[in-house]
Amino acid sequence: MIGDLNFLVDSIKDQVIFWRRHLHRNPEVSYQERETARFIYHTLLTFGNLEVTRPTKTGVLARLIGKKPGKVIAIRADMDALPIQEETTLAYASQNPGVMHACGHDAHIAMLLGVAKIFCGMQEDIKGELRFIFQHAEESFPPGGAEELIQAGVMEGVDAIIGGHVWVPLEIGKIGLTYGPMMASPDSFYLTIKGKGGHGAIPHQTIDAILIGAEVVVNLQHIVARNIDPFDQVVISVCRFVGGTTNNIMPNQVQIDGTIRTLNSKLRQEVPLLLERIVRGVTSAHGADYDLKVIQGYGQVINDERVVRVLEKTVREVMGDAALEFVRPSMGAEDFSAYMQKASGAFFFIGGGNKEKGYVYPHHHPCFMIDEDALLNGMKIFMHAAIKLLA
Ligand SMILES: [Zn+2]
Ligand SMILES: [Zn+2]
Repeated sequence: MIGDLNFLVDSIKDQVIFWRRHLHRNPEVSYQERETARFIYHTLLTFGNLEVTRPTKTGVLARLIGKKPGKVIAIRADMDALPIQEETTLAYASQNPGVMHACGHDAHIAMLLGVAKIFCGMQEDIKGELRFIFQHAEESFPPGGAEELIQAGVMEGVDAIIGGHVWVPLEIGKIGLTYGPMMASPDSFYLTIKGKGGHGAIPHQTIDAILIGAEVVVNLQHIVARNIDPFDQVVISVCRFVGGTTNNIMPNQVQIDGTIRTLNSKLRQEVPLLLERIVRGVTSAHGADYDLKVIQGYGQVINDERVVRVLEKTVREVMGDAALEFVRPSMGAEDFSAYMQKASGAFFFIGGGNKEKGYVYPHHHPCFMIDEDALLNGMKIFMHAAIKLLA
């Protein structure tokens, strides 16, 4: 069985790579994936046996309903690109100025098309249903494509879902798994410190929002350093600090925006309260006022233990023990988390880096490149794991 499936995957390698390069050449950003969706839709129709629909403007769903009843297993691929000008010298580099598949979602689409194509030839043997979710807008919050597709009903009846991400920090030939929390919730904060403007030479007649803002930024780091259990992971980063117009005018206010990353729901509730306590304390100490908004982003990706166990077994059987790498959680985010609210699920990393070939640039970098052999590895894991989950 393993040999047969792997043979089928290898036999469509050229086609999968062709799809991936076509998509790489023609990237579209979140919510604009019109041509991408059209390409996926029409390619899926050529496979036969599939029920193909367009549940959202740019999302695509394909259902392969087996001849015998059974479980419903879903596989998800995201499909959006990023607003980045590509700087690689690849022959199939983006032809769309200022837009690039710099996260590898082109590979995700191509893999899932390949998986669907092979499974279509096995309909007689499938007990249950395989559902292929091509999701738009992973890179854009709110609300993100996953939430919209769920609203449109794509998860109805699904027993388990798996998703993978080609991952350059992981070398080619490796599959990265994590039991439990894997990716963080990316919540944003928007803070206005309201002081009193005036002449830079007469500071005593002002309430210096810049100085108070600077103290807030420094004090926020007490949360991670002194309020959080050292065995828990939290990130608080101030990424925007804006205030003032010129060198001798004290502004009325400054704007301080940042991101909060947590890996469990308790800390997700706690950290904004600690943040506000510091903001309230520092501003009131200096007679300033503030306005604070915390906006919740995607949920945390917390892998279901039973599904990860299936993936672990699959990796060991299909690629060997040496391919398996247990990876530490990432403070990045993924809206795959939304599907996990509806069914047991697991997300995993497909090694796509290759130091020898120079595929070392991080995700979202203008020189981002992957080793295309990752597509074959990913397809094999998806297919073998899906078969195990159906059983
Ligand atoms: Zn990304
Ligand atoms: Zn991504």
